Amino acid sequence: MSTNTKCAALVSGGLDSLLAVKLIQEQGIFVQGLFFETPFFSMKKVKYHCEKNSIPLLVIPCFEEYKKMLLNPASGYGKHMNPCIDCHVFMLKKAAEYIHEKGFDFIITGEVLGERPMSQNRNSLNRVINLSGVRDLVLRPLSARHMKPTKPELDGLVDRERLEAIKGRGRKRQYELAEKYGIKEIPQPGGGCLLTDKNISERLRFLISTRKEGLTERDTRLLKVGRYLHLGKGQLLIVGRNEKENDILTEKYRKETDILFEPVLYPGPSALLPHAGNDESLISFSVSICARYSDIKGDEKAVYKVSTPVREFEVKSVKADDEEIKKRFDLTVKSGDGC
Ligand code: SF4
Repeated sequence: MSTNTKCAALVSGGLDSLLAVKLIQEQGIFVQGLFFETPFFSMKKVKYHCEKNSIPLLVIPCFEEYKKMLLNPASGYGKHMNPCIDCHVFMLKKAAEYIHEKGFDFIITGEVLGERPMSQNRNSLNRVINLSGVRDLVLRPLSARHMKPTKPELDGLVDRERLEAIKGRGRKRQYELAEKYGIKEIPQPGGGCLLTDKNISERLRFLISTRKEGLTERDTRLLKVGRYLHLGKGQLLIVGRNEKENDILTEKYRKETDILFEPVLYPGPSALLPHAGNDESLISFSVSICARYSDIKGDEKAVYKVSTPVREFEVKSVKADDEEIKKRFDLTVKSGDGC
C-alpha cells in the first residue's frame, strides 16, 4: 500500500473509532484524527484515548456553525435534543472540507452496521453519506466488507481484504481487535453527548426559546451547572449547588451582560442572572432564593454582594418561601463541570 496515502478519521473516543484508525494505520496509511468540538460533547475522553493509543488528534472548535444546524436540523431531533442525522452529516462535511484543503485522500469513521438500530442501520448510514455529498470518500473499516467498495478501495489505496466485516451489536470481534492492537484500556461506551440527556435537553429547549440565535457558547457550557429557576420574562437564575459550581458561575460571569450574586458573611450559593443587563427588578427575589439555599437560620437575613453591569452593592434578604420556589422552572441535572 502507498505510504503517501492520507486520511482523516472522525474520532469520538469510543472503541470503534480507535479500532477503525488502527485498521487503516496498519496498512501504512497516515491517519489524522479529527474531533469537532462543541460544549455538548466533552473532548476529555477523546484526547485521553488518542494520546494513549498514539493517534494524532486535531480538535476543531465549531460551536457557531454547529448551532445553526442544532437550531434547525433538516432531519429533526431524536428522542431529546439530539439531531443525530444532521450531526453526522455536519461532521462529515467538516471532515470533507479538511481533506480537500489538506489534499488527503478519504475519510474514515468507526460506525458499525447494525450496532445501533436507529442511527447505524444500512438506510441511516446511506442517508448520512448521501446528504453529506462525500459518498465515495467515506470508508467504514469495521463494516467495510458488508458495504459496496468505496473509492479508496477501488483506487487501490486501501486493501479491502484487510478490512473487517463486523455487523450487529455483539462486541466480541471488537475486543479481539483491541487485544491485537494493544488497546489496554477499553473506553466505556456511551455517556458522551449532552444532547441525548433528557434534563439537559429541557434546559436547552428553554434557552433556545428565550435566546434563539442569541444563544451563546457560554450559555451552553452552563447547561450542566446549578439549579435552573425561571423567574419569568425569560429570565433564568442559575444557583450553584456546591463550591465547584459556585466557582464556575463566578468564572463564567460577564460583567457587561450579567448580574452576579455572591454571599457575604454566611456560607451560601453564588448565583448568576445571565443576560439580565441593567434590569434590577429581579434582584431582591434572586437574593431571597440564594438565602433559601444558604446556611442562615430562621428569620435571619442573608447578605449578598450584587454585581450588575453598572454597579456593585449589598442586598439583605430572608429566605424565599419554598412554595414560591417550587412554582419556578427547576430541572435537576447531575452536578458537573460542563464540557
Ligand atoms: S449522539 Fe450527539 S454527538 Fe452523537 S450523533 Fe447524536 S447529536 Fe451528534
